[in-house]
Amino acid sequence: MSRARHLPAVPATVFALVLAASAALAVRPATAAVAATLQGLLWVAVVAALAVAAARATADRAAWALFASGTAVLVLARLALYAAAGSPLVDPVVLERHGSLVLATLLGYPLFYAAQVALLRRRLHRVRSPWLDGALAVLLLAAACSALFLDPLQRATGMGAVTIAAAVARPSMDVLMAVYALTTCSLLGWRPDRRLPLVAAAFTVLAAADVTDLLRLAGAAGPAAAGAAAGPVAVAVDVARLCAGALLVLAARQPAPRLPRRHAEGWPVLLAPVGVLLGSVALLLVDRWSRLPDAAVVLTFAAVGGVTVKVALAFDELIRLLGSARQAVTDDLTGLANRRALFQRLAGAAAGGRDTGLLLVDLNRFKEVNDTLGHHRGDDLLRAVAARLTGCLPQEALLTRLGGDEFAVVLPGAGIADGHRVAEDVLTALAEPFTVGGLAVHVGASIGVAATGAAQQAAGPVPGGDAELLRQADTAMYVAKRAGGGVAVYDEAVDRAARDRLALLDDLRAGIAAGQLVLHYQPQVDLRTGGVVGMEALVRWQHPQHGLLPPAAFLDLAEERGLMTSITEEVLRQAVAEAVRWREAGRPLRVAVNLATSCLLDAALPGRVRDVVAAAGLDPRALVLEITETTLMSDPERSRRTVAGLLGTGAGVSIDDYGTGYSSLAYLRDLPAVELKLDRTFTARAARDERSAAIVAGTADLAHSLGMRLLAEGVEDAATLHRLGELGVDETQGYHHARPMPAGQVLGWLEQRGSAARGGRRPPAPVR
Ligand code: C2E
Ligand code: CA
Ligand code: CA
Repeated sequence: MSRARHLPAVPATVFALVLAASAALAVRPATAAVAATLQGLLWVAVVAALAVAAARATADRAAWALFASGTAVLVLARLALYAAAGSPLVDPVVLERHGSLVLATLLGYPLFYAAQVALLRRRLHRVRSPWLDGALAVLLLAAACSALFLDPLQRATGMGAVTIAAAVARPSMDVLMAVYALTTCSLLGWRPDRRLPLVAAAFTVLAAADVTDLLRLAGAAGPAAAGAAAGPVAVAVDVARLCAGALLVLAARQPAPRLPRRHAEGWPVLLAPVGVLLGSVALLLVDRWSRLPDAAVVLTFAAVGGVTVKVALAFDELIRLLGSARQAVTDDLTGLANRRALFQRLAGAAAGGRDTGLLLVDLNRFKEVNDTLGHHRGDDLLRAVAARLTGCLPQEALLTRLGGDEFAVVLPGAGIADGHRVAEDVLTALAEPFTVGGLAVHVGASIGVAATGAAQQAAGPVPGGDAELLRQADTAMYVAKRAGGGVAVYDEAVDRAARDRLALLDDLRAGIAAGQLVLHYQPQVDLRTGGVVGMEALVRWQHPQHGLLPPAAFLDLAEERGLMTSITEEVLRQAVAEAVRWREAGRPLRVAVNLATSCLLDAALPGRVRDVVAAAGLDPRALVLEITETTLMSDPERSRRTVAGLLGTGAGVSIDDYGTGYSSLAYLRDLPAVELKLDRTFTARAARDERSAAIVAGTADLAHSLGMRLLAEGVEDAATLHRLGELGVDETQGYHHARPMPAGQVLGWLEQRGSAARGGRRPPAPVR
């Protein structure tokens, strides 16, 4: 690694030593030819090094190849001039005689310019007319140079105008190259690209050398004798030119930084045309006091013409930019501001530290209009809504359409209370019917209100604050929507509860898979014999953090989010396996499993029940499926079909919570259930209240005449148990017998109960 780092230092040192030697030799006439040879070799080395660097470059290879070719052209032209003159000392006479070679040196500059444009193009998008910029600068420099040098040089050297123009053009172009490299740097924001400043340095040194040479020429008297020693100025010029070459090599060897492409933007884009314009004006002013050569004036006017073209191009681009900028923040359908504009405004308000209110307005019956009247009419309605909203909002509000039938209103300086007031106004405005396609259409809205004051408590003044505000308004809007429309203000507590539920849902999904659902069993007792005849399986969730959760803590969520099928499957599997274990232990008990509404809408359930029962080897008649009245009524047709399928498996069906739902005698008539399960609200009152007692007795009669047994749940004391027996109830379940117990305690409890009955004592309550 250190080797690699030191390697470039070796050629650099050799280069410097040879350069110093050639300078020392050049000042003595006897060794001038050796010096010239050494310099020629150094130039060849420079061109070779540039070519190698270009070949090795990982980026911008074309640019460095162009730099190398430009340098080669300069070197060849110069060497040809030396050869023609027979001396490295060039004087006006030599120049005048070999004007075409002087012109040839200029051919290197278009290559340099192309190289610079290539470097710039890779970094910047949309560089418009870089060639025009270059041409403008050349025109101005040419005008300035002819104004400054044409007359005095002609007078001093006697050279022709063309030769002078060619000689003058060189330093002008050097300056142009340096300025171009520096401009590129400034366009890129002075990013860490070391190559461009080095290029600029190379051409600055070259410009200094060429200007010095021009001044030397102007002062040179008479032709130089062949083999004469060069003066110190000429030596310095040659050394400086070689140094410029070395700087270019150094630039080519720098690594290309990995920078993203940027857009050319801001004032640096105007640098070239404005600079040229100012220069031209200055030249024309000078012309008013002392007449400039005609060539200079013509060139100046050409430069001004070029600036005009450039400005026209820039203007054209500006118009197109403005057009696309307006489109980017506008909603096509309504002409309102769009989501991007909303975020821009929110960000602006946040930056200004102002309170901001935000309303999210969602139309209530838009989908109906769209579906029944067609998209065309739907669009008409949206436009009409947009117009009406615009009319009812405060002056400083920004109304935007977020998409679909969703609008947002930014209220600068507004808090929650102001937002609420405006939301009420919006509701009032939307309450009037709209006329769409000749029909009067009523669209209500659901509006969520949030404000930055509230948002900052939740999210803090973080970059995501705008998105958080929108989320809060959205949350509030959904609360309003669930309430059937109207206005809802963001409420952190409600939001947190909703998030907690969501987290619980994730836990539940994972928990089901991880086997965290457990069953507790509650005994069902025959009233006449006092024997245990069945067990109801009741699910619990052993949550890793929250402990053992009752069904009320998670079943609603599971039902709402479609997890009920997998829960039921798990419960069925465990309950059936447990019943098989009891049978094997000599306790052939029924096991009851609860089914939720969604289970009855699932046509595949009977098949799964059959599979589970068959796989475990349980007599299907030992399984009772408990269905509530409410469950049955939610979609009577579909649930009736599923129930028929369940009955086909051989399992019994029990009507749970009987007496609390919308009882319909029709389903009692059609549904061949084995059991009616009287809800505990009747059970508890049967011992105290004669009317309740009459209902229980009547229900018992009804059940019996339909061939069903009546099971009363929620029996908590002996008096109730006794009374239920008198009223004709067949079986009972409740805390009086036992609370639901873990599976592992069932056989032990049965054992203890049996021995207690034999000893005439009540069994102890199981450990909870
Ligand atoms: P349910 O089907 O009516 O179950 C009886 C509920 O009453 C059980 O509550 C039980 O612990 C409680 N209970 C039993 N005896 C007494 C008593 O003497 N007094 C009082 N006050 N309560 C008594 P749990 O276990 O909390 O279950 C609540 C509900 O959760 C169940 O009502 C049932 O609708 C549902 N559930 C439980 N397990 C499952 C299941 O696996 N699947 C489905 N779909 N629902 C289930
Ligand atoms: Ca039940
Ligand atoms: Ca029940």
